[in-house]
Amino acid sequence: MTKNKLAGLPSVDRLLQRTELEALLEDHSRKALKTAIQEVLVQIRQGILKEDKELPEDTEIIEMIQNKLEERSSEFVSLKRVVNGTGTIVHTNLGRSCLASSIAESFQEIAFHYSNLEYDLKEGRRGSRYDHIRKIVQELTGAEDALVVNNNAAAVFLVLNTLAKGTEVLVSRGELVEIGGAFRIPDVINHSGGTIKEVGTTNKTHLVDYQEAIDEETGAIMKVHTSNYRIVGFTESVEYDQLAKLAHEHGLPFINDLGSGLLIDLQPYGLPYEPTVKEVLAKGTDIVTFSGDKLLGGPQAGIIAGKKEYIQMMRKNQMTRALRVDKFTLAALERTMALYLDEEKVLSEIPTLAMITESKENCLLEAQNLANEIRQLKLPLTVDVKVSAAAIGGGSYPEWTIPSTVVTLKSQQFSASQLEEQLRSQKIPIIGRISQEHYSLDIRTLQREDFTVILDALKNIFKPNTANQ
Ligand SMILES: *Cc1c(COP(=O)(O)O)cnc(C)c1O
Repeated sequence: MTKNKLAGLPSVDRLLQRTELEALLEDHSRKALKTAIQEVLVQIRQGILKEDKELPEDTEIIEMIQNKLEERSSEFVSLKRVVNGTGTIVHTNLGRSCLASSIAESFQEIAFHYSNLEYDLKEGRRGSRYDHIRKIVQELTGAEDALVVNNNAAAVFLVLNTLAKGTEVLVSRGELVEIGGAFRIPDVINHSGGTIKEVGTTNKTHLVDYQEAIDEETGAIMKVHTSNYRIVGFTESVEYDQLAKLAHEHGLPFINDLGSGLLIDLQPYGLPYEPTVKEVLAKGTDIVTFSGDKLLGGPQAGIIAGKKEYIQMMRKNQMTRALRVDKFTLAALERTMALYLDEEKVLSEIPTLAMITESKENCLLEAQNLANEIRQLKLPLTVDVKVSAAAIGGGSYPEWTIPSTVVTLKSQQFSASQLEEQLRSQKIPIIGRISQEHYSLDIRTLQREDFTVILDALKNIFKPNTANQ
């Protein structure tokens, strides 16, 4: 029996003559194809010998060879697309923000061609990479000047290292926070060469606390957005304009770490009040720092905006070179920010904002669509649609949830955690949530293109012949 099966195995040469495989030579060398064929034949032979498997049809063998070739190159590529079904929009572990597809073409132009990254086209000589972003930041925030570095942590560091090295920085005790990934405001201040001078108490800080803390050692007053946590109840903090006034009376810079770079007011979409970058600058902040990939919806970056004289000092700081951004970041950031010039369109164009502002009625409709498409596959699965609560994430709007809808999947064959693992192991991994023994995918963080990925994954998991898995 086994002998017969082995005798039926096609030879490498016979397979090489198949037109389907010949077509692969367009993308792969003959040597690579031959190696893949040999590996697949060894795999089949072992399957027959050790597990008494059947001899696959030629078409199946060809498919295995095609997969092998693909696998070979993807085996060494680790960073890949995933589907975010968690309902957390700015998900730091899943890459935070997805770029707007409308910038893809012009972004590619920079990636695949030379550019004027550090070249002044007017003068025909060396320019600065930091000149690019200035104009759009000025337009959107009213800042005099701007500088972009690797991320907001780097931005905070650079600001303090430039403006407050060897001095004391006044920060409210309630704002000495850890943001996540072990980014602690006190540590950053210390690393930048400044010293913290805590002001007030955890829940209450008054203007007089700052006034009394100022002495000849003071180098700056800093306000930090507490981002991922909130003190509720008996609380008080000092307004931006009051702190700005106090700082300026003493000739000190007033620095603001805003965390998320909110460029438009999201209150009309049902979100609680959050200050925009423009607003805090208008209230007298000298320097504001924020992330490019949180609420702004762009690439990872730290944007420093504010007074020209301070930004100029930062440009001259040697550390700027170590924290500098590459052309991909600049291209994506500039183009993402340009989308904000049309305040209405930006909401649908930037995925992060679209996900935040999508109506709950639309979420329900889309969830029903996805559920129906899954049901049509007629797999052994119970598919339901349920209300849920999505989160903004990235330390923005803590404790705030947005009404959303989940598609839940229940199977006889797999437990919720087995199903989770199966979906997570697909070619395009799908990351969902398990709650109350149900596997669920939150519609708010799914993109339309994710639907087919989910359908293909489920077909793959539940297809009758899972033998080769
Ligand atoms: C998120 C955050 C940071 C860190 O920003 P990254 O861009 O992740 O480096 C710093 N400060 C605040 C207040 C934040 O919310």
